[in-house]
Amino acid sequence: MIFKKAKLERHISLKKDVRNSILSFCKMKHPNEGILILKGKSKKGHIIVDGLVIPPFSYSDPTFAGFPQSFLPLDLDYVGIVHSHPSGSANPSITDLHNFFGLVSLIVQSPYEEADIFAWDSNGNQLSMTVID
Ligand SMILES: [Zn+2]
Repeated sequence: MIFKKAKLERHISLKKDVRNSILSFCKMKHPNEGILILKGKSKKGHIIVDGLVIPPFSYSDPTFAGFPQSFLPLDLDYVGIVHSHPSGSANPSITDLHNFFGLVSLIVQSPYEEADIFAWDSNGNQLSMTVID
């Protein structure tokens, strides 16, 4: 018997005001990377991002942004992180995949316009994303 394993396709819904806050935050942090925690809900592979948290003790430079996860209060509303790539490519780096946090990683490439946000899973596969009101 061969069971065809249904691949769980994740889909991201990003609230418009959250999207706008992410873009202004990235612009403000430029030329350094910016990093934020995504809050939201996840149901059967559908992830709704509806809030942001500034991580405690975050640090960043032009090629890296991170935060000590041990300082993070346990909160089940955290669905992932978003960070910027001032260099202009939204592809996740090896470091990004090693430091994956939560269910989804959003990466914003310079110049941080509406079409510059991309969603990735922990394997570096791109996820579909829509912006909702
Ligand atoms: Zn990165």
